[in-house]
Amino acid sequence: MTELRRYKGQALPRQAYMTEFCVVCPKCNQKAKVTVENPYILNNAKLQCSNCKLIEKEEDLIRYNVIVKRNCLNCGKTFEVNIPNRKEKLTEMTVSCPNCNETKKYKPRNDKYKLSYNKESPRDPIFKLSLWFQCDIKGNTLWAYNRNHLSEINHYVSSKLREREDTSYSTMVEKLPTFIKVAKNRDAIIKAIEKLMKK
Ligand SMILES: [Zn+2]
Ligand SMILES: [Zn+2]
Repeated sequence: MTELRRYKGQALPRQAYMTEFCVVCPKCNQKAKVTVENPYILNNAKLQCSNCKLIEKEEDLIRYNVIVKRNCLNCGKTFEVNIPNRKEKLTEMTVSCPNCNETKKYKPRNDKYKLSYNKESPRDPIFKLSLWFQCDIKGNTLWAYNRNHLSEINHYVSSKLREREDTSYSTMVEKLPTFIKVAKNRDAIIKAIEKLMKK
């Protein structure tokens, strides 16, 4: 009787793998990392590239849209002046009315927003940079946050017997998409992970 490899990984939630994200550096396209202090709240995120030395903090992504929308104090007509993409708030803004040209100081509204690098998934949840470990498997994208995550997926896929542990939360492997779980894709996935590991 042949012995089957049994998956008996730790029943960890996906968040357990979310302390570090390997991403594509936005400056040099090499491997960079995003770290967070606590994976459940994703706080104090920092992007670091050892290749080009880029360092960015989550706060660096914050921008303000500074808007004065009101009626001119002189002629009464409504106007709107907008300064997008400011790194700091403005408490006062000198505006000339487009109608009567009267210049006055106004108190603007500061609408806060966050920049993000990328609109396409899979990406890290803070800077939204493309994940470093990703590849195509028959039209589906296999991805991992980091090497540890990738290696655990590999461990799971290469085990022929998979045991379910009783947990009150859903584990990382339970959340894996079906194409990773189906037996017919096993060899393709193992090969792909092997290749990714060398990246
Ligand atoms: Zn870089
Ligand atoms: Zn005016």
